[in-house]
Amino acid sequence: MSKLVVQKYGGTSVGSVERIQEVAKRVIRYRERGDSVVVVLSAMSGETNKLVSLINEINPNGSAREKDVILSTGEQITIGLLSLALEAKGCAARSYTGTQARVMTDNAFSKARISEIDGSKIKEDIAAGKVVVVAGFQGVDCDGNITTLGRGGSDTTAVALAVALEADECQIYTDVDGVYTTDPRMVPEARHIPKLALEEMLEMASQGSKVLQIRAVEFAHKYNMPIRVLSSFDEGDEGKSTLVTREEDIMEEVLVRGIAFNKDEAQLTITGVPDQPGVAYKIVGPISDANIEVDMIVQSIGSDGATDFTFTVHRNDYEQAKNILSETAKKVGAENCSGNDKIAKVSIVGGGMRSHAGVASDMFAALAKENINIHMISTSEIKVSVVVDEKYLELAVRSLHEAFGLDQA
Ligand code: ASP
Ligand code: MG
Repeated sequence: MSKLVVQKYGGTSVGSVERIQEVAKRVIRYRERGDSVVVVLSAMSGETNKLVSLINEINPNGSAREKDVILSTGEQITIGLLSLALEAKGCAARSYTGTQARVMTDNAFSKARISEIDGSKIKEDIAAGKVVVVAGFQGVDCDGNITTLGRGGSDTTAVALAVALEADECQIYTDVDGVYTTDPRMVPEARHIPKLALEEMLEMASQGSKVLQIRAVEFAHKYNMPIRVLSSFDEGDEGKSTLVTREEDIMEEVLVRGIAFNKDEAQLTITGVPDQPGVAYKIVGPISDANIEVDMIVQSIGSDGATDFTFTVHRNDYEQAKNILSETAKKVGAENCSGNDKIAKVSIVGGGMRSHAGVASDMFAALAKENINIHMISTSEIKVSVVVDEKYLELAVRSLHEAFGLDQA
């Protein structure tokens, strides 16, 4: 049976004329098997960064609308180039910018969210036998303004388009051949994962795995769209890949699927806070109002009418969050506030944790053996995360990778 596949190619996969020709060849190979192909592209690698520098040279504090007008141009070049390459090889193709593809978003420039895609025109092109090539990372708001989806946003375009077109699979081509048990640049023993659940990928991405943009995984999880991660550098389409799919399609449930980590974290603590109703809100409220995302939160058991409160934020938001917190400290009559931006978060993720107790304690044992102090802990059904000093990050990841046998087949 013929399939509809959405193929997304990242910046390195379209980084040169030669790479674009390779993409055209791959698309044609798929079509020769009888499949219909919709392509979503990123800008050529480094291109969006160049646009960011141009913006910063002219007016870094300028309006977000104009910035998105500029940032969205990189993708317009690659979609045109690929369409021309396909045409030159005798394959009918048609490019679409985000606006032309009717990728509707809200008006949050630079981090817009897709609300809807009207795929009717694209479907007509597919029916007419054309390859449709869509610009990733961009959309249009209801007033016709161009928006962008946040760095790495082409993954999200691809998944959203796959959902809108009811594609059979969304393929994400990148420079690695899939998802690994942890980052192979840190742990050379990391093993390739052939298949994992969307929910596991969601935890991996939110805990720091950089293979897929988190919003793309959220979208895929919400709509049950299978994603396949593959390398555009493997020729012949027979290379390794990782299929991220519905839980029921995963045969083998493992305790720990992978170890994710995140270095970009910072921790803030406020001590001697009067232990009263509403105090958590008074502390976290002003931080959220400043659009700073709070990740882990720990409140200690109060004693003598006072309590301590610790939470983590992205390291880029550290200074701002610290200033806000010291204002709050004065207002609520807290004793002290302090912070640490040399921390990192390490997480173990696996669907098998649902039905097995003791995983957290095995994790703590492995860290204790290496004398690594844990600052904070948080858990979900399928994940345990700890905050440790940044200088122990690598040791923590390596020892957990070994402790859970991830280095073994
Ligand atoms: N070109 C954009 C970026 O570099 C979007 C993407 O590559 O997904 O962030
Ligand atoms: Mg990219």
